[in-house]
Amino acid sequence: MFESLQDRLGSILNGLTGRGALSEADVSAALREVRRALLEADVALEVVRSFTDRVREKAVGANVLKSIKPGQMVVKIVHDELVEMLGATGVSIDLNAPAPVVIMMVGLQGSGKTTTSGKIAHRLHTRDKKKVLMASLDTRRPAAQEQLRQLGVQAGIDTLPVIAGQSPTDIAARAVQAAKLGGHDVVILDTAGRTHIDEPLMIEMAEIKRRSNPHEILLVADALTGQDAVNLARNFDERVGITGLVLTRMDGDGRGGAALSMRAVTGKPIKLIGVGEKMSELDEFHPRRVADRILGMGDIVSLVEKAAENIDAEKAAAMAAKMKSGKFDLNDLADQLSQMQKMGGMGGIMGMMPGMSGMKDKMAAAGLDDRMFKRQMAIISSMTKAERANPDLLKHSRKKRIASGSGTDAADINKLLKMHRQMADMMKAMGGKKGGGMMKQMMG
Ligand code: GDP
Ligand code: MG
Repeated sequence: MFESLQDRLGSILNGLTGRGALSEADVSAALREVRRALLEADVALEVVRSFTDRVREKAVGANVLKSIKPGQMVVKIVHDELVEMLGATGVSIDLNAPAPVVIMMVGLQGSGKTTTSGKIAHRLHTRDKKKVLMASLDTRRPAAQEQLRQLGVQAGIDTLPVIAGQSPTDIAARAVQAAKLGGHDVVILDTAGRTHIDEPLMIEMAEIKRRSNPHEILLVADALTGQDAVNLARNFDERVGITGLVLTRMDGDGRGGAALSMRAVTGKPIKLIGVGEKMSELDEFHPRRVADRILGMGDIVSLVEKAAENIDAEKAAAMAAKMKSGKFDLNDLADQLSQMQKMGGMGGIMGMMPGMSGMKDKMAAAGLDDRMFKRQMAIISSMTKAERANPDLLKHSRKKRIASGSGTDAADINKLLKMHRQMADMMKAMGGKKGGGMMKQMMG
């Protein structure tokens, strides 16, 4: 009778894990579409190639969630990979250096350097209460220095007075000097661009860098930059050495493929995005949003996520049914452990609970850390199906076999069994209540 309950639940759980693995053919078919989407989004060809290769490796053999098509599953994998490649949210401008911290803005003409200089100054001033000085090093276009001065007036930011005839490098040195004297925390150097990359520009940028010792060098690029993005980012990074990227005109129609291209070739974080002409229209970079936009497929991704959620919900319901019946075997314990691991292990769980982060070290000292989880999982997976379903079977000889199979000892196994017994008792006590897994109960 016990066995049959076990089998019934087993088949439900197996049914939930999907309908098989992605085949080479599934993946290739889907990747053809993905490739097209990436090229339409203006991701550079060489980046598209290396990206789809990476995805192919991950996708072939991956499990397909039920209720979605294999192609959608590939898209989900593509999306996740894209988010990962685009990098983290909230890598902010680094001001961790002796004042005045110099931020140098570089990029092509019209990319948005001057506007972004003003936006960053405005943000540092209003949000971080920093005293900022801006200096225009653009001596090529007559109106450029005046443009920055007006932005300064508008945003209440100091600008370096213009002295006619000075070279960009001299202005840079003077700006740093003026900031020291003026007690400014930050100096923003707004450099001149060109319509395309050329040798004089690179030499000028390198020279400005040498004279002003910037802590941040931000490459500003229009989100609509297409195949050139790779060349642009690579050149500025190799010749000048950038610390981050700013993508402007993300408020426009562009899909933002340049974000992926430039990030892929430089490995530098996208620190900010421009979303309009106004001083306040500067945003944090959110890789998920940009990934959605590049793929133009947010709805499929959420569909896949929904399917994954449903599976979790159905699993939780199955667990609740078991709890009601008072049965909680080692298969269930393994499920709970892997659920905890999915939440980032002990460290992740502790990090999520307010006031608990200090506990992490204490628990590690007591041996209650992620290694313990791994050991417990190893023990359970060294057991037979029958042993997992019925821990009472575990007498001396079986324990010995399991210990050698999992690289643990009898004491470890006894500890696990004790923990399981305690949890099973708790489950029985909570059995009447509704709800999902152990962790849900613990975390309310
Ligand atoms: P620079 O030559 O690199 O200094 O570029 P500018 O800062 O002068 O910007 C060129 C044009 O782009 C200006 O008209 C700006 O108002 C506009 N611009 C800059 N950033 C953005 C943005 O994020 N969104 C939009 N819509 N326009 C922007
Ligand atoms: Mg400018």
